[in-house]
Amino acid sequence: MKGKILIIEDNEQNLYLLSFILKKHDYVVETARDGEEGINAALHSRPDLILLDIQLPGMDGYAVARCLKSHPGLRDTPIIAVTSYAMMGDREKALESGCIGYIKKPIDPESFMSQVEAYLLQNTEKGGGGYA
Ligand code: MN
Repeated sequence: MKGKILIIEDNEQNLYLLSFILKKHDYVVETARDGEEGINAALHSRPDLILLDIQLPGMDGYAVARCLKSHPGLRDTPIIAVTSYAMMGDREKALESGCIGYIKKPIDPESFMSQVEAYLLQNTEKGGGGYA
């Protein structure tokens, strides 16, 4: 087991795809379908990494990231934003709200895992709470 990853994503197909790829690479996966459920899951299970969809029902991903970062126990948990909105400034908004990086949808199954691991490595080198 390499670590526990929480996926906060409301789209079933994406959730399935991300879970499938991560499990195939020996990560333990937990899932949540909206921000509130995701925050509760994060507080309860203390994942090593959170993959966070930005377009969620209710609280959007940026608000979820800020909330996660406001909890002392989760301050060092790396968050990677996942979003299909390829809008200018999205990357900056994700970083401002506390995410270590940003992965674009549609997910490319070939490169997804290496993108995640590259962000974790970068985060560890910066002295953040990575575990890669
Ligand atoms: Mn969504």
